[in-house]
Amino acid sequence: MSPPHEGGPQAPSPRADPGTRDWVISGVRPYGGAPTDLLLRDGVIAGAGRDLAAPGASRLDAAGLVALPGLVDLHTHLREPGREDAETVQTGTRAAALGGYTAVFAMANTEPVADTAGVVEQVWRLGRQAGLADVQPVGAVTVGLAGERLAELGAMADSAARVRVFSDDGRCVADPALMRRALEYVKAFGGVIAQHAEEPRLTEGAQLNEGVVSAQLGLVGWPAAAEEAIIARDALLAGHVGSRLHVCHVSTAGSVEILRWAKARGVRVTAEVTPHHLLLTDDLATGYDPLFKVNPPLRTADDVAALRAGLADGTIDCVATDHAPHAMEDKETEWGAARPGMLGLETALSVVVEAMVHTGLLDWRGVAMRMSAAPARIGSLAGHGAAIEPGAPANLVLLDPDTSWTVDPGSLASRSRNTPYAHRELPARVVATFLRGEPTVLDGKAQR
Ligand SMILES: [Zn+2]
Repeated sequence: MSPPHEGGPQAPSPRADPGTRDWVISGVRPYGGAPTDLLLRDGVIAGAGRDLAAPGASRLDAAGLVALPGLVDLHTHLREPGREDAETVQTGTRAAALGGYTAVFAMANTEPVADTAGVVEQVWRLGRQAGLADVQPVGAVTVGLAGERLAELGAMADSAARVRVFSDDGRCVADPALMRRALEYVKAFGGVIAQHAEEPRLTEGAQLNEGVVSAQLGLVGWPAAAEEAIIARDALLAGHVGSRLHVCHVSTAGSVEILRWAKARGVRVTAEVTPHHLLLTDDLATGYDPLFKVNPPLRTADDVAALRAGLADGTIDCVATDHAPHAMEDKETEWGAARPGMLGLETALSVVVEAMVHTGLLDWRGVAMRMSAAPARIGSLAGHGAAIEPGAPANLVLLDPDTSWTVDPGSLASRSRNTPYAHRELPARVVATFLRGEPTVLDGKAQR
């Protein structure tokens, strides 16, 4: 294996195609602050200020709208290659754009698994063709996600996709010696191991959170300790070898405590929480509706409160959707047979507004940090997550903070329908998304 390059993946050239329209976004409120105009030209924010004159530019009246940097999702399942009946790169990135995302990291548990340079390059090319959001492939840690031997991490890092995030997500890298070797290996090129923290011996046959509700229903529970034990173990390993660990979808109050302890002792650990773990609780399982089956499972109200506090104080670095589309036959079945997972891309921002902004826990700058800047930094993704200012790439989401909408599963852009928010009213709505100065969404509608 040749030594991989230093540095992170490169976004496509920040300059848009010649002939691209200039845009003036007038009266928009960056981070919810004072209204201003933004001029988008050649893929970058070329100017900011009141009453910008730009002859020939298209104008978008954005009075009352809040502008944030384009969102970045560290944890998306696009299902292509292999399960195009559930999602494709095209439909998944359309859902992403409608949710305000300009970049997504595509998880490796496809068919075939993204464990070679060939497969990660295939996913990367599909993303470039779709053009609705940048797609950055995540590489598998182990061959076939089997947890037995390391995949070709260096070859994936050195490929055209320049992979920097590696994960067996869906499965835990349970073998501690293998996890240690993976952490050591990615240090050479500034990579990070993203762990799905679940001690498999403690969750055999588990159907939902282990607690009062699982006891009432008589179903096998998924104990918090199965997550917390792996996070503690991996934090110790990452500290020991001086490498970077990222913890996927943190779901328990105890996990937040362990992360706080690890960060205080200087371990290079980052963590994400999903929108659904910030809003929903395990009592939803009492109706046996598999839409609420997810891994890790929905937890208790005390866990939700601790996750919100951890996200607010920075113990948890970012929000990631774990967007997990499933075909009807895998989801519309009895609870025990249904696949775990929920759609997330089109509802994430609204759920974060409900759980974090309306509760006073985060302001708009805080949302931008946790849904754009931090995930871009954790994933070493150039060209995304920059602050809204002249010279920055023109990756933007414009949202109406004062509206609300009722989620209609049939009108979502995803190829699947497994949203846990069906018929629920959520606050705030994405009005427009710009990727390098070009609208991927206008007036709430995808442009491709
Ligand atoms: Zn996972």
